[in-house]
Amino acid sequence: MTMSNPGSNDTTLKVDTAISNQLLPLMEDFYTIQGEGFYQGHAAYFIRLGGCDVGCVWCDVKESWDATLHPLVSIEEMTNRAKSSGTELVVVTGGEPTLYNLSDLTTSLKNSGLTTNIETSGAYPITGSWNWVCLSPKKFKAPHNSVYEAADELKIIVYNRSDFEWAEEHASKVKSTCELFLQPEWSKEKEMIPQIIDYVKLNPRWKVSLQIHKYMNIP
Ligand code: SF4
Repeated sequence: MTMSNPGSNDTTLKVDTAISNQLLPLMEDFYTIQGEGFYQGHAAYFIRLGGCDVGCVWCDVKESWDATLHPLVSIEEMTNRAKSSGTELVVVTGGEPTLYNLSDLTTSLKNSGLTTNIETSGAYPITGSWNWVCLSPKKFKAPHNSVYEAADELKIIVYNRSDFEWAEEHASKVKSTCELFLQPEWSKEKEMIPQIIDYVKLNPRWKVSLQIHKYMNIP
């Protein structure tokens, strides 16, 4: 498996790491409550794939960046684990899941009767069949243009005041039915929540998203 440094523009990474559509680097998988965005509060099985080249400075899962550190696990096994948890909803996240061709994974999950959600920075075109696409763009690597049209939800992480203008730039590119969320970056929460509240009151097409799983002390 070939990996490039996080933050590089090496688009060959997507191809190189896809050893097989049937095997994907899995950092962790667990059954919990979706803490953010449109599906906040729903029970969900998370599949966190290893590998990310976006390089966000405030990333809270930096251990996900190097895909080679994570075992290759078969799609069948991931599906079986998710199904046996009792969940109805699977959230595939990372890392950056669009590094991989996820067509076989979504087919397998859907054949098991599971709803498929993806959370992505949109760094690469989306593959697979998804019930819900959450696009959370990052300043460190712009989303691929094709991802805006696919997004059902736009979730902007607000780190400072200038991020409101940046959020509107992305909102102008998504479809009209896309749900819009502003979420404070966790370490800046106390500072940014009052500003987000004021912004949403003035711009009510946006909603507030908080990471409630962190308040509940669950993964
Ligand atoms: S895209 Fe996600 S996993 Fe990758 S560096 Fe940014 S926050 Fe971390």
